[in-house]
Amino acid sequence: MAKNNKQVYDSRLAKSVFNIKHQRTFCMVKPDGVMRGLVGEILRRIEKSGLRIVAMKMLVPNQEIIKKHYPASDEAWVKRLGDKGISALEGLNLDVVETYGTDDRRELGDMVVKSLIEYMQSGPCVAMVVEGVQAIDMVRKLAGSTIPSQAEMGTIRGDFSVDTPAVANVEKRAIHNIFHASENAAEAENEIKLWFAGEKIHDYSLAGDEVMYNKHY
Ligand code: GDP
Ligand code: MG
Repeated sequence: MAKNNKQVYDSRLAKSVFNIKHQRTFCMVKPDGVMRGLVGEILRRIEKSGLRIVAMKMLVPNQEIIKKHYPASDEAWVKRLGDKGISALEGLNLDVVETYGTDDRRELGDMVVKSLIEYMQSGPCVAMVVEGVQAIDMVRKLAGSTIPSQAEMGTIRGDFSVDTPAVANVEKRAIHNIFHASENAAEAENEIKLWFAGEKIHDYSLAGDEVMYNKHY
């Protein structure tokens, strides 16, 4: 009996560990990243971290997919976009209404959503699915903060972009921050389903997996 219980426990644990090691996330080099020739650099950073690229394609997304990708009907999400712009003015000595034309979070968020649709269609994107240990948080770490002027050096956004809502919102465009990455498990699942619907997600091991995860001593 005890032995059976142990077997169940072991296989459950093994499954959990397998799931942690094979977590999948969605990420994308945005049109400004592609046009600046940063695809290779970004892929290099993902691969160097030990994560696996398990699906990848280049496309100019249509409006429909962008609208599904950015949940414009989710009021809380849209307001959060507005908030980001408002808090980015802190310390800049700029009046919110004078700078953005409004201090209404929803209105500001709607403006950003509109500009995101134009931005994401301004050229080809490179979309991919990345897999590995806690891939969702790992790829967000590689990406860095949304607002490039606040993103840490060493991150994709921090190293290769400099932009802020204080400039982008006034110019009625999205913040150009090179790279997208799913923020959490729900986003990752939805975005993988949306961008790679019915497409093959590959399965392979990296040569480095052996040294990274196997107790070979
Ligand atoms: P992300 O998950 O880090 O990409 O950030 P969000 O999901 O909050 O925002 C989606 C995208 O909208 C960002 O990557 C930016 O391109 C753009 N964006 C976010 N906040 C602002 C803002 O305050 N102003 C403008 N113009 N664009 C923004
Ligand atoms: Mg996001």
